[in-house]
Amino acid sequence: MRQKTTAAERRAGLAAAERACSRSGKKLTPLRRRVLELVLNAGKPVGAYNLLKSLRADGFSDAPPTIYRTLEFLQAQGLVHRIAKSNTFVACSRPHDDHFGLIFVCRQCGGAVELEEQQVIADIGCCAGRLGFQMSRQVLEVEGTCRDCGAAL
Ligand SMILES: [Zn+2]
Ligand SMILES: [Zn+2]
Repeated sequence: MRQKTTAAERRAGLAAAERACSRSGKKLTPLRRRVLELVLNAGKPVGAYNLLKSLRADGFSDAPPTIYRTLEFLQAQGLVHRIAKSNTFVACSRPHDDHFGLIFVCRQCGGAVELEEQQVIADIGCCAGRLGFQMSRQVLEVEGTCRDCGAAL
């Protein structure tokens, strides 16, 4: 499972954030920008506690009460997905689209990969439509073992 993001991907993620915020008329404050950067840098799902530690090291001393609000903001902008099971956050791999995240999460290494294929989500959307069910959750997570960890077992 690919863990690290490249510098180009991190730049693209931040550029996408600038665009998403200007589209929605919201401000990408230094704190919001830094949190996104940290999630991008992590390259794998990261928890709020670890983000806080990094923020403190950066001198954002007022960050603790606002970290969850900041993460909520980033989720609302479609820049970050929350993995509910582990309560961790991962940068969206396609923040330019409005979409549900479909994410494979490895139980061994904690790595996560977001699928590009949206057909599954579209199918679920059709089922929901037939039932008159309005989907609100942003992420569909599938747990398992990634190829690397599977090979090491
Ligand atoms: Zn996504
Ligand atoms: Zn793994």
